[in-house]
Amino acid sequence: MFYRSTRNSNLKVESAQAISQGISEDGGLFVPESIPSLTLDEIKYMSDLSYSCRAAYIFKKYLTDFTDVEIQYCTDNAYNTKNFETENIAEISHLFDGTYMLELWHGPTCAFKDMALQILPYFLTVSAKKLNIDKKIVILVATSGDTGKAALEGFKDVEGTQIMVFYPECGVSSMQKRQMTTQEGSNVAVCAINGNFDDCQNGVKQIFTDENVKNSLESNKLMFSSANSINWGRLVPQVVYYISAYASLVSDNQIALGDKVNVVVPTGNFGNILAAYYAKQMGLPLGKLICASNINNVLTDFINTGVYDRNRKFYATSSPSMDILISSNLERLLYMLSGNDDSKIKEWFGALAKDGKYEVTDDIKAKIKEEFFAGYCDDESTKETIKNIYEKYSYVCDTHTAVAVKVYEDYRKATGDKTRTLIASTASPYKFSASVLEAISPDFKSEDEYAMVDKINELSKIDIPQSLADLKNKPVRFSGSIEKTEMTDYVIKTLDIK
Ligand SMILES: *Cc1c(COP(=O)(O)O)cnc(C)c1O
Repeated sequence: MFYRSTRNSNLKVESAQAISQGISEDGGLFVPESIPSLTLDEIKYMSDLSYSCRAAYIFKKYLTDFTDVEIQYCTDNAYNTKNFETENIAEISHLFDGTYMLELWHGPTCAFKDMALQILPYFLTVSAKKLNIDKKIVILVATSGDTGKAALEGFKDVEGTQIMVFYPECGVSSMQKRQMTTQEGSNVAVCAINGNFDDCQNGVKQIFTDENVKNSLESNKLMFSSANSINWGRLVPQVVYYISAYASLVSDNQIALGDKVNVVVPTGNFGNILAAYYAKQMGLPLGKLICASNINNVLTDFINTGVYDRNRKFYATSSPSMDILISSNLERLLYMLSGNDDSKIKEWFGALAKDGKYEVTDDIKAKIKEEFFAGYCDDESTKETIKNIYEKYSYVCDTHTAVAVKVYEDYRKATGDKTRTLIASTASPYKFSASVLEAISPDFKSEDEYAMVDKINELSKIDIPQSLADLKNKPVRFSGSIEKTEMTDYVIKTLDIK
């Protein structure tokens, strides 16, 4: 299996190269040159396996330059009960007739990004070794909350790596801040910036391309790499849980082998829903892929009209991990749908960079409509939905998941489609407790995170995740903040280079 760049179809690399590089030097994303197949017999076979073995089975189809031993080393280290609170890794819970919540938040940071970031550090270190890169991998992350913590937990104490995370001092929730400032591990550093998320991101980009820093890294046997969601090593683990969930529905006699299942995904960067699309292309019997956005509904408009236009107001919402106006992974979908037409991709994404806008061809518009349904939900309906679900089904979900549930209800109303449906539940309600309590217990008033956590526990009966409970007594290791202009010096000092 080879990987091509979406902006240069002639470029061809193996998965170890694609993963350790992250992004192609032409600015394109790496995509598998063909989609491996998955038969119903294989799905049936997988239904008897553990999550970790199901993952290994799928990875063998995509990471063909990895040995079986290497793949098992990665899956064993990621998908175990030390890292996840449940043996199934991803749990399925029944919401109402034929509708299932795929709970992807039982990992160490209580959000679905753990599903990929728990394994990425192993993919990266194994890839570097295969390529005979004898350097320590340094990961820099700019975060608005979820990604930074998930990356820290993934990389902490992984041999041959070091990680630094930058977050906006006043731009993350108090629980997210506590999660990061108390981070354990001998190879981690966390740094608050007096600025916003864009300042953090621009700072990181500058450091990545700073010639002086590059030279110092080189002479100290260090190299930068990236953990963000355009890395193929973050996408392929997401394909697994859709296949795994389907296999579980079969073995639990919820569906017969071969039955179609719809999937609903609360979407930001288009990574999670693209993984469902890959699973479907492989042969997993999925029906409609339902793309749910918050009021930053650039994807809803794109799927419905074929015009991508980021020239619009940006809103900070109660589902902040979906507050995105540029959905990077869409590039991979459009590359596939255009028949690997790199010149079209260059044209569209050039226009996006220049004018913030592009329009795809009629042929592609039709293909998108066939596979996807799109809708959105504002903060008011998000709150309403959390309340309704709680009252009707005694199920408490977070704000991102509520967006998905609401868009699914709209889909059912619009189409009458009663196909069984998996809704991707992307965060634990404990992670967004203030918004969740506003919906299900509007009279509750407290700013204290742990009072909120206890209240959600009382109402939801969901166990408090151990990782969040433990934070209460963990000492703060990283305090204070720096100016955005001091980021480069901070990196040089932390790495002890120069
Ligand atoms: C990152 C994130 C999303 C969006 O996922 P994409 O793959 O970027 O579409 C949704 N919900 C939560 C809780 C997230 O952290």
